[in-house]
Amino acid sequence: MFKKILIANRGEIALRVQRACREMGIKAVMVYSEADREAKYVKLADEAVCIGPAASGQSYLSMPAIISAAEVTDAEAIHPGYGFLSENADFAERVEKSGFVFIGPTPESIRIMGDKVSAKQAMIRAGVPCVPGSEGALPDDPATIKRIAKAVGYPVIIKAAGGGGGRGMRVVHTEAALIHAVQTTKAEAGAAFGNPEVYMEKFLQNPRHIEIQILADTHRNAVYLFERDCSMQRRHQKVIEEAPAPGIPRRLIERIGERCAAACKKIGYRGAGTFEFLYENGEFYFIEMNTRVQVEHPVTEAITGIDIVRTQIAVAAGEKLPFTQRQIELRGHAIECRINAEDPYKFTPSPGRVTTWHMPGGPGVRVDSHVYANYTVPPNYDSMIGKIIVHGDTREQALARMRTALAETAIEGIKSNVPLHRELMVDANFEAGGTNIHYLESWLEQRDR
Ligand code: ADP
Repeated sequence: MFKKILIANRGEIALRVQRACREMGIKAVMVYSEADREAKYVKLADEAVCIGPAASGQSYLSMPAIISAAEVTDAEAIHPGYGFLSENADFAERVEKSGFVFIGPTPESIRIMGDKVSAKQAMIRAGVPCVPGSEGALPDDPATIKRIAKAVGYPVIIKAAGGGGGRGMRVVHTEAALIHAVQTTKAEAGAAFGNPEVYMEKFLQNPRHIEIQILADTHRNAVYLFERDCSMQRRHQKVIEEAPAPGIPRRLIERIGERCAAACKKIGYRGAGTFEFLYENGEFYFIEMNTRVQVEHPVTEAITGIDIVRTQIAVAAGEKLPFTQRQIELRGHAIECRINAEDPYKFTPSPGRVTTWHMPGGPGVRVDSHVYANYTVPPNYDSMIGKIIVHGDTREQALARMRTALAETAIEGIKSNVPLHRELMVDANFEAGGTNIHYLESWLEQRDR
């Protein structure tokens, strides 16, 4: 096992990985920007290295700064967390070329899956069902694009091959709007992701977002850890996640889960990963794969009892998965609310000093956050400041625990979306379960009217 790991991230996930290291007797090196100097998890680290100014381009996204931090501290491996460089194949490659272990899949896997066009092609070959659409990237010729759209059937969605974080997508309802939409998305994709390639998919009207968590080792073992329902989204960004997905027959989950695990073996995947699907009328359609740990991993940890981060580290060190598929059992129900430093009505970011920070507790409650009273949320990064996760024997119990947990939660000094979560936890449709990806936005529209 490794003796020392460098954690190339910040915030709650940096603390989450640090905790896993502690538990495993591994020393944790934290890197931090000038904006995160005062963070407690930085002070708690075995070693900490400042890698640059607040702007992430000069710190958390700076490959040379991170690699030299690993060199000066003699770390053996680098955990990238999520976001930042976690899905950057060039980074994974440079980490390995510099003699460190990258805690994640191979650069080749990241490269294939990071490009949504090549990811879909790989999945079709591996027998995973995909959303119908263009075979690969769209050509330039308008007549051909129109022909493809006609064959796919309107409405269609134009998506950037290099897109992520809910950006680089445009829905098109009519042929008249098609060519302009393709050109605009291409231009935006080129500017935002450095890759102007776009592709087309059928725009599904009322799907749910269901994803399958997988874990794979370097000994050709791969398992699936069931599903998460992440349909509660705003602007294609997840707000609430839960597992299992209400109302989906277990045999359908097993069938798609087995396909995902088989695909991992086929492509030589290692580490943790997530296959994201849209689910409509009993069918799963692959949309993309995330080649890293996800924000919502704790709901899966709650229902399986498996520590995903610990397993990531173990398989990166060459260990075999410590369980087989048959040993993985689904227990109870878990729900996660993402806590964001933002206005709960207007969604504008609300950084600043947190004066009160009171987090819930009790049976089945987990809080993953790096925040504490008197902590200042820097304005430079994502607005997510923590996650409240509850687990219960049933969905009803999990919901009741989340309501209690949110009632106990007190955050002052900055605005947070806790009031929004409180309202959603008593919404009749959410309570019933099985809401689709458009539900939250239409609920918000109603509320604001
Ligand atoms: P990103 O990498 O930016 O997260 P995804 O491909 O995972 O992009 O899509 C994010 C979200 O966008 C999905 O969860 C879903 O809400 C919506 N979406 C993407 N593709 C489609 C589609 N073909 N039909 C309907 N909604 C879609």
